[in-house]
Amino acid sequence: MADRFKTAKARAKRDNTRFALLFLDLDGFKAINDSLGHGAGDELLKILAERLREQTRSTDTLARLGGDEFVILLNELNPGDARREAESVATKLLAELSLPVVLKGREYVIHASFGIALWPDHGEELEILLQAGDAAMYEAKRKGRGGFQVYGRDLHTQANFNLALERSMPPALESNQFYLLYQPQYEIDSGRLYGAEVLLRWHHHKLGEISRNHFIPLAESNGFIHTLGLWVLRQACRQKQAWKAKGLCRENLHLSVNISVTQLLQDGGDASFARALEAILTETGVHPSELKLELTESAFGQSQHPDLRANIEYLDRMGIRMAMDDFGTGHASLGSLKLFPVDTIKIDRTFIKDVAKNADDEAIVRAVVALSKTLNLKVVAEGVETKQQLELLREIGCGLVQGFFSGHPMPSPELEKLLAERHHLNNSTST
Ligand code: C2E
Ligand code: MG
Ligand code: MG
Repeated sequence: MADRFKTAKARAKRDNTRFALLFLDLDGFKAINDSLGHGAGDELLKILAERLREQTRSTDTLARLGGDEFVILLNELNPGDARREAESVATKLLAELSLPVVLKGREYVIHASFGIALWPDHGEELEILLQAGDAAMYEAKRKGRGGFQVYGRDLHTQANFNLALERSMPPALESNQFYLLYQPQYEIDSGRLYGAEVLLRWHHHKLGEISRNHFIPLAESNGFIHTLGLWVLRQACRQKQAWKAKGLCRENLHLSVNISVTQLLQDGGDASFARALEAILTETGVHPSELKLELTESAFGQSQHPDLRANIEYLDRMGIRMAMDDFGTGHASLGSLKLFPVDTIKIDRTFIKDVAKNADDEAIVRAVVALSKTLNLKVVAEGVETKQQLELLREIGCGLVQGFFSGHPMPSPELEKLLAERHHLNNSTST
């Protein structure tokens, strides 16, 4: 690559042309490799490399950087139009790459993401251009699968900011910048406080409150979520024991903890997440029936992944139950419900938002509640904000409710107060 880069640079200077680096990364390659084996993974890379070669000119260079990353050097771009030309090649390549591939007799659709860096606009030297292309590719991935992104200065700032944020995660955990909030869940019929969802927050010592929609994906991509996720579980279990010791949990208070699918996909297939959780339960004395793990519906699509299966089977044997979170947003098949020890469905708040105004949303919620009853699952309506929504959900027969109407996410002393006064949903809603 270094040689080709030198040549490209010399030629571009001589002919007054430009060139671009296209940084390519395949989405979901690891899943194919893990589920179909390395032979199929290699076969896939060969097929895709062949397509790339066919679609590029002989003057362009295609190199594999290792794993599922490729770099394409596009030569002879027009100085006035280099960006548009590079973008149109990326569009063409994306279309070509997303055509189905047959592996072991089945068709798979693979998506790729491209980051584009232009010489000399985004860097004079190979090192710098590769970094720019990488940052742009990262941004393309962040925006969703199967797209491209041209490097830009604000992107550099964003990438640097993210990098700094990632680096500050381990010390932040050490210095107690992470903390938990608890959002109450009530039984609609009896009004009894059923449990609470545990929600993670980060108060950065310099930057203040960092959005979890920002830092959780970063922690997932750099692997810190493994450490952070276990910290959340340990903290929640300790809190539960502290409440029990004060005599505040005469009836079981179910704590529901969110986990990312990444936590279940650690290499090795030795169920390391489930084992670590088992150790936390033993250490804190919490029974598996006191805890629920929330996994978003979209994660259920990966049910065939061997590392995930190993964890799920271990969790099931331990007696841990799970909730399918954000139900209705993830296109999971109902069959995948059976592959997980799920005992609860959480209807996503996009359906609850207009449930009292929109007949379609109401019909969907009714159907989900009916389905859950047939399958013997508990149903939580998420994001309930008004009395009107609550009353309709009561009429529909939905079992549990969580939302700003019955209680915002709150620090542990506030939930403790609710426990101490044996708070009832109906106390606050019957006027
Ligand atoms: P989620 O699991 O669906 O959590 C529910 C989200 O809905 C929370 O957002 C909560 O504050 C919000 N919410 C609750 N009631 C209402 C309501 O009535 N109206 C509206 N508009 N919103 C309501 P939050 O705390 O920002 O969390 C966002 C997401 O971050 C969570 O979605 C969850 O997927 C993730 N998350 C939070 N804590 C953790 C964690 O410890 N680990 C992992 N992996 N993910 C977490
Ligand atoms: Mg949740
Ligand atoms: Mg949710």
